[in-house]
Amino acid sequence: MRFRALHTIEQNAEPSTNGTDKRKISELYNSQVFSLKAMKKYMSGETYNDLLSAIHEGTSIDPQVADAVATAMKTWAMERDTTHYTHWFQPLTGLTAEKHDSFFDLKDGEAIEAFTGNALIQQEPDASSFPSGGIRNTFEARGYTAWDPSSPAFLMKTRAGVTLCIPTIFVSYTGEALDYKAPLLRALHNLDKAAVDVCRYFDPEVKKVIATLGVEQEYFLVDSAMVFARPDLMLTGRTLFGHAPAKGQQLEDHYFGSIPERVNAFMVELEREAIQLGIPLKTRHNEVAPGQFECAPLFEEVNIAVDHNALLMDILDKISRRNHFICLLHEKPFEGVNGSGKHNNWSLSTDTGVNLLSPGSTSIRNLQFLTFLLNVTKAVHDHAPLLRASIAGSGNDHRLGANEAPPAIISMFMGSELTRVLDQLEQEKEHFIEDAGNGEASFKMDIPKIPNIRRDNTDRNRTSPFAFTGNKFEFRAVGSSANVASPMTVLNAIVAHQLKCFKVEVDQLIEGGEAKEMAILQILKKYNAESKSVRFEGNNYSEEWVAEAEKRGLANVKTTPEALDAYLSDKTKEVFIGNRILTEREIKARHEITLDIYTKRTQIESRLTGELALTHIVPAAIRYQNVLIKNQLGLRKIGLEDEAEAVLNTIKKISTNVSLIKENVKKMVNERKKANELEDPREKALAYCHIVKPFMDNIRYHADKLEIMVEDKLWPLPKYRELLFLR
Ligand code: ADP
Ligand code: MG
Repeated sequence: MRFRALHTIEQNAEPSTNGTDKRKISELYNSQVFSLKAMKKYMSGETYNDLLSAIHEGTSIDPQVADAVATAMKTWAMERDTTHYTHWFQPLTGLTAEKHDSFFDLKDGEAIEAFTGNALIQQEPDASSFPSGGIRNTFEARGYTAWDPSSPAFLMKTRAGVTLCIPTIFVSYTGEALDYKAPLLRALHNLDKAAVDVCRYFDPEVKKVIATLGVEQEYFLVDSAMVFARPDLMLTGRTLFGHAPAKGQQLEDHYFGSIPERVNAFMVELEREAIQLGIPLKTRHNEVAPGQFECAPLFEEVNIAVDHNALLMDILDKISRRNHFICLLHEKPFEGVNGSGKHNNWSLSTDTGVNLLSPGSTSIRNLQFLTFLLNVTKAVHDHAPLLRASIAGSGNDHRLGANEAPPAIISMFMGSELTRVLDQLEQEKEHFIEDAGNGEASFKMDIPKIPNIRRDNTDRNRTSPFAFTGNKFEFRAVGSSANVASPMTVLNAIVAHQLKCFKVEVDQLIEGGEAKEMAILQILKKYNAESKSVRFEGNNYSEEWVAEAEKRGLANVKTTPEALDAYLSDKTKEVFIGNRILTEREIKARHEITLDIYTKRTQIESRLTGELALTHIVPAAIRYQNVLIKNQLGLRKIGLEDEAEAVLNTIKKISTNVSLIKENVKKMVNERKKANELEDPREKALAYCHIVKPFMDNIRYHADKLEIMVEDKLWPLPKYRELLFLR
């Protein structure tokens, strides 16, 4: 398989010409999206306005309007060769889901194309095999998808045809969320309300605050022929075996290097597809590791950006295959090589056009900036374990803290300018107050504007999991394969919760007779002191930070089963239940599902480790050993005793590794059996994490030793150098 794959690669190496369509990006943008522009063209003014208020204000849509929207959508879609439609949703598997229905219907024996308001608004996919964490018994298997008009419908094209995809949320018959989107929408709604209330201290005109998100997506590309010869990459997305290559990333010659032509052809095709789907991809470059790349879009409203990232992951897969690549989204496909993340750039902006995390030019603007900055800081400080839980998963466990990604300790980086301001705020309130001349104190605040040139200065530290980067925060601990709705639900929920608390505290002081600015300043000073321990400006990858963080009492939870405990804490319940984002049952279900996914992924990896070790690696080692045995006997025959002895040593080394592999596989299988008998999902995940997984590491260690002993010709699995360095 390995040599056949190497041969196939030569044929794959020719760059594809799929992306050579010469139309301008401005012409392509949104051409496969039922955008506002398309809606306006295909709907009556009245329907359009009703729909617009549903999108912007969340008003409900009555059946006639839904019918009119459905008809417009159908006309638009059919003019673009669409035959089917599907509700498109994001169940807790982490992947997107679709169930296609045809527009085809029969009326009086005649075939017609139909699409009704009912079909647009609600569907009942047979949902019994999506994870529900016990919310839905299989006999009550009904779940339904409900149209989310705030995310536009789009056309998914394949060679075989075109499907109209309608973004939806997925809920159980009893109304519990079974997906990523429903709680996200609730969190964003909360955030809007809470942030508007706080904004009004500064500007009574503000009516809406939206959270914005730009997601940088890292990924690896590996030739598909190579992947087909690596069952571990095929089934788990990462290599379970493989010795480090002589050349890794030590020369640092890949980052921002010139993009290989074949990869470039893939990227061009990817971008054109993305642009047509309304995903505003803007940036592409090589990443640090060989074979690793990144793309980033312009930022959008969180809800849309989340859908667009989920869709991007889909088309990364589709388009890479068309170009004879497999796109690996796993957080750590190769040991000893940098893993992949997904930086979540996040900010807040008002309908009056103000970025609330951008310092302003007046005192009052800066007080507003500081208000939002410190509320975010306090939220991250208070709910760091929940943020950690929101990015937990078996893949990210391999990446966090592995020397190229932030550790599992959640801390925040502010940059030197802001650190100075926050330190001043801590020490002397007076600094922010001056004599107004009439005997009364007045408020002054000069935060040096952090202009564009200084912005770079704030972003020097790329090791921080949660960094302020001039006009936004960048949450860098998110894994490359994650559905970002999970961290975004948590981040927006904790900030919303925090802003509500802030408002209560400030209002109390104002009622007690304090001037507004002074009241705000006083509470901010308190938050600043309370959340100081979460701020860290140094190198997050260093050993010293791990020790320092421990002294500060910051959590450092390295593995998923423990990290997920944060979902069940009282603090989390206060945020989720108190703000109607998730119910107790929904929280429990999510906790269970995430544990279960962790267990199953680890179980699959463990099974495959055993299988590949016994059916690929050990036989190759034995074959080579037989060659050596013959050689050794021959040497003795002609009297070369010393030389024969040396060969015998190698034979023994191979034997030792082979026996240890066999022994450990046997033990691992036993431990797996024991783990599988555990009823409690947390206990089971813990057993897989701390008992089964170490066997995998051990088996790999011996297998990788064999890889550098056994004759290359006999080695069955493509080697790291072949996976990583072929262009
Ligand atoms: P870097 O690699 O230095 O982190 P990139 O340019 O690759 O920077 O990515 C920056 C990301 O931040 C982009 O996706 C961009 O759209 C996003 N971004 C910029 N401003 C905002 C904002 N106000 N809110 C959310 N995201 C933003
Ligand atoms: Mg970044």
